[in-house]
Amino acid sequence: MTSEKVIEVKNLVKKFGSFVANDNLSFDVYRGEIFGFLGANGAGKTTALRILSGLSKPSSGDVRVAGLDIYRHAEKVKKHIGYMCQKFSLYEDLTVAENIMLYGGIYGLSKKIIENRASTLLESLNFTSYRKNIIGSLPLGMRQKLAFAVAILHDPDIVFLDEPTGGVDPITRRQFWEMIYKASSDGITVFVTTHYMDEAEYCDRVSIMSEGRIVAIDSPDELKKRYGASSVQDVFVKIARPSNYSPNNN
Ligand code: ATP
Repeated sequence: MTSEKVIEVKNLVKKFGSFVANDNLSFDVYRGEIFGFLGANGAGKTTALRILSGLSKPSSGDVRVAGLDIYRHAEKVKKHIGYMCQKFSLYEDLTVAENIMLYGGIYGLSKKIIENRASTLLESLNFTSYRKNIIGSLPLGMRQKLAFAVAILHDPDIVFLDEPTGGVDPITRRQFWEMIYKASSDGITVFVTTHYMDEAEYCDRVSIMSEGRIVAIDSPDELKKRYGASSVQDVFVKIARPSNYSPNNN
């Protein structure tokens, strides 16, 4: 991780009608950092992530991604980022090779570069023999690892991962995180939302959101010290609980 800021957010507000989904968020993320974006369901994580990836406009506030102003350069921002989420990643009715070609093309890479990167990618994942398999026929964990590799095919500055390991078994999740470490050491910033608190422990820093606000942001070790907790899970339970929480309705 370097001291170069690749995401700069100041006083970000996003409203849907009178409902405030992101309430005055301010934070920076650095090149190569693994940044965990945590919060209970409905805290406002996906809303912020969609703004940072140029898919939605803020109601107010300053947001720069890869040095670009999100209001003026949302389309350019998209060239500097990769995006994957649990619900949508690869096209299920296309083969592994067809998905790589398709996304490489969308990212503006030449056929030759895509073919070279595809071979390296498939070899590193041990997926070479699956290149002609339909995505829908592959196990979820394999699909998600492939989706991550495809999301960084164009060597972006930042990759946004929205619950990328939801429903994936622990061994595959661990392998997925090895891929995240490798991307980070190659200088790619990894911005990840997760509900798995063991994964939060793997991040350089985590931000914890509750009801649209960031209530804590720091390294896992600092947060544990500050809140006298033995794990990020304990910190999370202490501070991320919505104000209407009741053990009977959760
Ligand atoms: P989860 O962990 O469940 O994915 P989240 O932290 O990503 O939750 P968001 O999806 O950002 O939460 O939603 C935050 C709040 O904003 C929720 O109350 C949601 O209902 C509301 N919201 C999100 N998108 C819209 C929209 N397009 N119109 C109205 N309300 C919305």
